Amino acid sequence: MTSETTAAAARATVYGYPRQGQGRELKKAIEGYWKGRVDAAALRATAAGLRRANWRNLAAAGLDEVPTGDFSYYDHMLDTTVMVGAVPARHRAAVAADPLDGYFAMARGTQDVAPLEMTKWFDTNYHYLVPELGPDTAFLADSAKQVAEVREALALGLAARPVLVGPVTYLLLSKPAPGVAASFDPLTLLDRLLPVYAEVLADLRAAGAEWVQLDEPALVQDRTPAELNATARAYRDLGALADRPRLLVASYFDRLGDALPVLAASPVEGLALDFTGPAAANLDALAAVGGLPGKRLVAGVVDGRNIWVNDLEKSLSTLGTLLGLADRVDVSASCSLLHVPLDTAAERDIDPQILRWLAFARQKTAEVAALARGLARGTDAIAAELAVNRAALASRAASPVTRDPAVRARAAAVTEAGTRRFLPYPERAAAQRARLGLPLLPTTTIGSFPQTGELRAARADLRSGRIGTEEYEERIRAEIRDVISFQEKTGLDVLVHGEPERNDMVQYFAEQLTGYLATRHGWVQSYGTRCVRPPILAGDIARPGPMTVRWTAYAQSLTDRPVKGMLTGPVTMLAWSFVRDDQPLGETARQVALALRDEVNDLEAAGTGVIQVDEPALRETLPLRAADRPAYLAWATEAFRLTTGGAAPVTQIHTHMCYAEFGDIVGAIDDLDADVISLEAARSHMQVAHELAGHGYPREAGPGVYDIHSPRVPSAEEAAALLRAGLGAIPAERLWVNPDCGLKTRAWPETRASLEHLVAAARTVRAEL
Ligand code: GLN
Ligand code: ZN
Repeated sequence: MTSETTAAAARATVYGYPRQGQGRELKKAIEGYWKGRVDAAALRATAAGLRRANWRNLAAAGLDEVPTGDFSYYDHMLDTTVMVGAVPARHRAAVAADPLDGYFAMARGTQDVAPLEMTKWFDTNYHYLVPELGPDTAFLADSAKQVAEVREALALGLAARPVLVGPVTYLLLSKPAPGVAASFDPLTLLDRLLPVYAEVLADLRAAGAEWVQLDEPALVQDRTPAELNATARAYRDLGALADRPRLLVASYFDRLGDALPVLAASPVEGLALDFTGPAAANLDALAAVGGLPGKRLVAGVVDGRNIWVNDLEKSLSTLGTLLGLADRVDVSASCSLLHVPLDTAAERDIDPQILRWLAFARQKTAEVAALARGLARGTDAIAAELAVNRAALASRAASPVTRDPAVRARAAAVTEAGTRRFLPYPERAAAQRARLGLPLLPTTTIGSFPQTGELRAARADLRSGRIGTEEYEERIRAEIRDVISFQEKTGLDVLVHGEPERNDMVQYFAEQLTGYLATRHGWVQSYGTRCVRPPILAGDIARPGPMTVRWTAYAQSLTDRPVKGMLTGPVTMLAWSFVRDDQPLGETARQVALALRDEVNDLEAAGTGVIQVDEPALRETLPLRAADRPAYLAWATEAFRLTTGGAAPVTQIHTHMCYAEFGDIVGAIDDLDADVISLEAARSHMQVAHELAGHGYPREAGPGVYDIHSPRVPSAEEAAALLRAGLGAIPAERLWVNPDCGLKTRAWPETRASLEHLVAAARTVRAEL
């Protein structure tokens, strides 16, 4: 290793690359395979072609080591489940009959067999399939995929480094299998799992892998001493193996904290650390433990999950500091590039002056390569790159897009009083009751009604110019008329316009706000073949005009019942977009909140008495480390209150969140100071109602009585039973009756029947009061 102790050996690498291809070729091939239009051989050929193209691009960009095994037909956690032989019992027959079909059955389920549960990968918008483990789980190594991919890359003459989910993270992200006690701790399986990893590592070594990367992002979350001990044991045991490649243990998305000394002391040859965002704290922590003598450090200095150009000079200075702390310092992105789109060059509609502020996977790869060159040979070797980079950063900093004096002055003038409603909740509730005259157990929905094929076709027709704006808007109005008349006929109490004009609850607003950018090809994998195109919060946010008022007002003109206005809240607007990295998130949230505040006020002026501000993302953006949460919740709840604080006391503010586990943020939910909250509850049999009550939540709440995630129609009796369960926790004066979430993914027949049953249930239970 002595030849590697100088910066001259600095190498460039990444941990993973977008999987779908520039034209989403993988998505198309997989979906074609599901429909029987593409056979397995053709799917495999498409996949192999994409892997090859990616590796060649990475090598051509100047990477010294390419990742392998990061490719996936669906999800890398699911691939790990296959690799360690933890296929759930209910899927074993299908996997034995046909591994590829069995794999997709685990991911998507079949007519008879439920899929694995899906959940968010840390605080990203990527979703993984949750392994199901129990005391009887017997692991069995299957290294075929990993071995095949490292061979493919080596055959291209590239230095290839397999990337695996590490054993500790794998277990920490698992859950007890169905039928296994909820108290079962998957980490107790570590000793059974390590021999399987040992076997895979030996196979990879035999296939020619010099280094193998084990990803342990779960170690950037707060971990117990027992979990840290398990980590120490895992890497002591893997380190002690005789027949193994060199090991690089990677972490990302946050700082390692207490896990850093554990890994630093372990007998592995390298650590890969994130040095961006809150993970920048790794730098001081590394110095505090005395660096990584004798080890390789891979420094993630290029943000792998956001889309801004790197500050190359700043990164070089970080890298320079790190040189004193490890035997060898290599350069990488902070995490897999899976979380960003592929290439800014495909974006023809973005102003070139702004496009140069952006870096997608391809541009980030070039940044990593340039930084490694700069580190190895000095800044003169990358003088041209530095000049271009400096100019791009200067252009961004000085642009009127990022500095709108009017927006800044308004945000700076926000006072505590501006984030408070005019009267406290109990007085508002009385005023609203008098104004709205609703029955006990009022019925409503969450906002969207079925997004039918006709609506999507109308939007496509508008985009392609087959129909004009007028024709399109008439179709939207026709849909609103249908939705209103259905709700009146069914007997709902607070109506909605149905959101037919919205393609997506964030994009719809992003398109109308100044400072937001849309991409044409900026696809990012959300789960499986589902890709999303998050808009970009690029500049200061302003609202040129009302965004929703005419649709809500039109709906209200058709009925005497209250129509609820419908907005996406500031936290969710940030969570489902790429955010600015040149100012604190709270500043951006405040700008978005002020734009939404104007919309609230305009809705109110147009006669809207009930306004819902959806915040389904409030909990999902919760920082990974508990220490960072109070600061986050402070700006997040402030942004919500700033959005709604200008509403008159008689205006009833609703909010909505789509999850059932929120015990840790009940205080924050109360801090929103909304009048009514609707939540998901049908699947957990009203557990949330009890949780709210247990925390003394004083406001009105609508725990869902209709699970909208499946086409199944709940009977009126079933909905009534859930309502009665809700009444066991929340008094009738404060209980609302609604579905779990919006109905946009449902079809009309089941929506009609379910809402009729929901209204019938409310009537039945009212009569019992
Ligand atoms: N108002 C939105 C809808 O009904 C809320 C969606 C959500 O919570 N994800 O579609
Ligand atoms: Zn929802």
